[in-house]
Amino acid sequence: MSREADLILYNANVLTLNRRKPRAELVVVKGDRIVWVGKNDGLGLFKGKRIDCEGKTLMPGFNDAHIHLMSYASNLLSLDCSSASVASVSDIQALIKQQAARTPQGTWIKGVGYNEFYLAEHRHPTRRDLDQAAPHHPVRLTHRSLHACVLNSLGLALAGITIETPDPDGGLIDREPETGEPSGLLYGMNSYINEQVIPPLSDEELRQGVRLANQGLLSSGITSVQDATVRNGFEQWQTFHGFKERGDLVPRLSMMFGLHALAEFKKKGMYYCYGDSRLRLGAVKYILDETKGQLNPSQGELNEGVLQAHQAGFQVAIHAVEEGTVEAAATALEYCLIEYPKGGRRHRLEHCSICPPPLLRRLKAVKALVVTQPAFIYYSGERYLSDVPDIQLPWLYRTKSFLRNGLRPAGSSDCPVAPCNPLPGVYAAITRKAENGRVLSPRESISAEDALRIYTLGGAYASFEEQLKGSIEVGKLADMVLLSADPISVAPEQIKDIQVEKTIVGGEVVWER
Ligand SMILES: [Zn+2]
Repeated sequence: MSREADLILYNANVLTLNRRKPRAELVVVKGDRIVWVGKNDGLGLFKGKRIDCEGKTLMPGFNDAHIHLMSYASNLLSLDCSSASVASVSDIQALIKQQAARTPQGTWIKGVGYNEFYLAEHRHPTRRDLDQAAPHHPVRLTHRSLHACVLNSLGLALAGITIETPDPDGGLIDREPETGEPSGLLYGMNSYINEQVIPPLSDEELRQGVRLANQGLLSSGITSVQDATVRNGFEQWQTFHGFKERGDLVPRLSMMFGLHALAEFKKKGMYYCYGDSRLRLGAVKYILDETKGQLNPSQGELNEGVLQAHQAGFQVAIHAVEEGTVEAAATALEYCLIEYPKGGRRHRLEHCSICPPPLLRRLKAVKALVVTQPAFIYYSGERYLSDVPDIQLPWLYRTKSFLRNGLRPAGSSDCPVAPCNPLPGVYAAITRKAENGRVLSPRESISAEDALRIYTLGGAYASFEEQLKGSIEVGKLADMVLLSADPISVAPEQIKDIQVEKTIVGGEVVWER
């Protein structure tokens, strides 16, 4: 007698990413779980909806361990000024001018993703450039790093920024050398501008953006995301909950949040991993920077903040890019294990972009994990080769060393900083190649299988969900992606061109090409 099933995927080239049983042909789903992984000859054992995979590659759905969903959603409603769509400041001006012509005067015009390194003029746009394109609309243009933006004169006026305004804490107002007037370029002030100056998106706009983001993720084969936005708190939890309930956001979501919200979550009895497999509470996110040449917040504040979250039973995710901030993060984790020696929290370093050997050893000793962005090598490699000092290049966006030292790297896009498609990241983790073909620190190259693992099991481990997802195994959630080709057997150069054919979440086909 054959058993009832909800979905039967056969004739597949299954990459299970389970080391005990790496390959299969048939995967059977009942409810939202995988109940059988085997050869095609098991097909007769089951009855239910069948999909002939025609030899295509079925693997666990991708897990993007660090993204910013609401920024991604709002970016999808803004002008795309990334190097994929503009090549110069004049191109940006033309886009803004077009937008101004169809937007009522006085309404904000928002552009995103510019990267001065790839503009023909090799400089940031200025308020004057934006004024020329739209003199009667406030304009905000966000840098691709999300750490800088440019406003036009009307935008600066609405933000109350004048020649007299001093640099705020953690921020920098760039000035014209001759006049001392703000040039329009602002560093470290994006949250102030986005939250205090520009009116928020209406509920309907936000919903439209989230639906577009949902399509962007599913069409990239992403079945789980981890939102790393520091301003997240209880209010954002409720917003995400609403999107989940209404089906606007299909990928599973783990929401990190800022330390400011810890007390409220504790008061509401919401502990680490509270929620269910569709929406759960993740790590306490901490941002560390060195924008003004010194650590912000200070080492002392960082130590106490990290300790507070650690004592409350939460995982901590520390944003650390520069060598100095990675060192401060290591110091804070050492401090908290001395003050409150409770291991197994899997504290994470987000980015850990420059990690010299002594810091690698210290992070290993405190059993930290690294959430890395191999796609930055692809999209920004050319910039790194020009800006990163030679001595630091071998320590830039390492992967092999993290794997070897047990830092359990998880792959992510930091979307919208980079596009969410994980395949350019998989490609870069293997080849270490920038978009222009130049190779960065080739000794950090990893195998195709390991690269796929960091974008699946790596992400699951980083959110304590490796028993639930990240590989195709009986008992795990039926979150899978069907690809046009096998990333392990094709030539590495072809990996970034592989197409997503189907995306499956909880046993349901939620996206098809
Ligand atoms: Zn981020």
